[in-house]
Amino acid sequence: MNPIPTQRIAKLKEAIALSFAKISHPAPNNIAPHQCEECAEARETFIQKDWRMLSSDVMEGHFDQLSLLSPEAFQFFLPAFMCFSLDHLDSPTCEFTVYALAFNYTRKTKEETDRQIEWWDSRFSLFEKDQLLVLINFLDLVKDSDDRNYFQDEVQRGKHHIELLVSKY
Ligand SMILES: [Zn+2]
Repeated sequence: MNPIPTQRIAKLKEAIALSFAKISHPAPNNIAPHQCEECAEARETFIQKDWRMLSSDVMEGHFDQLSLLSPEAFQFFLPAFMCFSLDHLDSPTCEFTVYALAFNYTRKTKEETDRQIEWWDSRFSLFEKDQLLVLINFLDLVKDSDDRNYFQDEVQRGKHHIELLVSKY
């Protein structure tokens, strides 16, 4: 892994805390609305939790659960996943946080493609411009730490999609 100056990490964490400070906790029935065992477990974990208070155990154990969260819960808890990732750039949590930001769909039927694009757009529909810019900074930092170019495609796709959203402001 390429070393990232601690000052750059600290600055980005500050920007995350600042730009997401105004987001309030999603309603208890709007954490992970899908009905299945995994989503029920995610609901139990994240219900009434402040993203600033989540333990390392939660961030490690639920490394892949961002995609289960509602758009409101995704926006609220994403900062926790990004801050943990910045301290653990080679963790599964960081890997799956990048995936959660990397606009991706499988080209199948037009109908399926439309539905997937709609899903991605809904993920980011609540984000404000300063928050989207923080996401781009996060992806850039992960890319700079990634000496194997493991995340190159994901970061490129994610940045491209988020930049399009920023340009609409
Ligand atoms: Zn589910």
